[in-house]
Amino acid sequence: MEEKSKIKALKEELCVPEKKGIATISADEIKKADEFCEGYKEFLDNSPVEREAVAYSLKLAKENGFVEFEQDKEYKAGDKVYYINRGKAIALAVIGKKGTKDGVKLSIAHIDSPRVDLKPNPLYEDNNLAYFKTHYYGGLKKYQWTVMPLALHGTVVKLDGTKVDIKYGVDESEPCFCITDLLPHLAREQAQKKLSQAIEGENLNVLIGSRPLDTDEEESELVKLNVLKILNEKYGITESDFLSAELCLTPAQKSRDVGFDRGLIGAYGHDDKVCSYPALMAAVDVETPENTCITYLTDKEETGSDGNTGMQSDFLRYFIYDLAKADGEEGYRVLSKSKCLSADVNAAFDPIYASAYEARNSSYINRGVIISKYTGHGGKYDTSDASAEYMGEIRSMLESNSIMWQVGELGKVDIGGGGTIAKYVANMNVDVVDLGVPVLSMHAPFELVSKVDVYEAYRAFLSFYKD
Ligand code: MN
Ligand code: MN
Repeated sequence: MEEKSKIKALKEELCVPEKKGIATISADEIKKADEFCEGYKEFLDNSPVEREAVAYSLKLAKENGFVEFEQDKEYKAGDKVYYINRGKAIALAVIGKKGTKDGVKLSIAHIDSPRVDLKPNPLYEDNNLAYFKTHYYGGLKKYQWTVMPLALHGTVVKLDGTKVDIKYGVDESEPCFCITDLLPHLAREQAQKKLSQAIEGENLNVLIGSRPLDTDEEESELVKLNVLKILNEKYGITESDFLSAELCLTPAQKSRDVGFDRGLIGAYGHDDKVCSYPALMAAVDVETPENTCITYLTDKEETGSDGNTGMQSDFLRYFIYDLAKADGEEGYRVLSKSKCLSADVNAAFDPIYASAYEARNSSYINRGVIISKYTGHGGKYDTSDASAEYMGEIRSMLESNSIMWQVGELGKVDIGGGGTIAKYVANMNVDVVDLGVPVLSMHAPFELVSKVDVYEAYRAFLSFYKD
């Protein structure tokens, strides 16, 4: 008997403690998580695409005392500034007591999500039905995007330079749009195809009209013309204006609680709004930190972080240089002393598809934030791989603030892979590691996350800023 308890004590001393997850969280904390997630759902419903996410974040920031950043202006501890990159990415900085002298603390999440973009020449008519041609954006399973209500989002710039923002199909009083699929009765051939080929990219055409323009004249393509007339009446645009536009379709449904116990949130775009919102709220709630803290919500992560609004752009670097200059510091020295949480999701273990995961190195729903030391794919390609020293620092930060956390990889070695913005931050000579929320059905039109995990992410970013 005595021997057994000795072993138990030895196990406690030497082994990784069993992760009890949500069972260790008090009812009071769970209530706080649920309340926090009401704000998150509001954010989700207002932010399906990056421009809308920036607009909503800006509104929240302004309500909480953030003002527009001005170059060459002197800032003092506690000042809160925002800096917008082309309407598609936003940086929020809270000036610290030490300013940028010892580096800055960065939390970087992305606000773009997989979706269906319109081609530059999208509109056509076929057999008296009008369609949009599309080119999908990001990694998606194409079959998941058919036969469901879609809404149109984006911006059109007319020839005279005026800008028209479009958001159509979200409100239930408005019509929505849809990509059709073949009925099972005639799908024998389709059903034999590989899943990746059953729905072809070139067939992701969106049905947008079915009634011809009312006229006595014998003319062709009157359904298309009718759609153009409606668009012109509503937005003042013509067919040529599609060329100077960024329009896309996203699922029309709003976020919903999932499960009898309401423990999960189902929504479009958790990847990566589920990290964007907690990082944004950490910037809002941190009060005069030691080091200047910057939350950056970036674009284009889903297509490789390219372009001037993606993480490979110099936008954030220049912003940090500007903050450094105001403190009389060299920008590159500030960067070299900076630390970053790359705030992105990882795949939650799904018992139904258990064979894709390595159970000992997976993240689980309701066990808190997931730290991914590295992402990438087979042979650890395409990843920055956080150092033991930085992992140690973050681990100790999470432990000392009693934040529920876990470590993991994306899935089994050589089964696939994926990346985040971490490696681009690392290239700036910054210490960085991925920390985020586990997601079920990632990249699907309806992804799932745990409310408790979302709240733990908020606590993690806030503690990182405060520490
Ligand atoms: Mn992501
Ligand atoms: Mn993604």
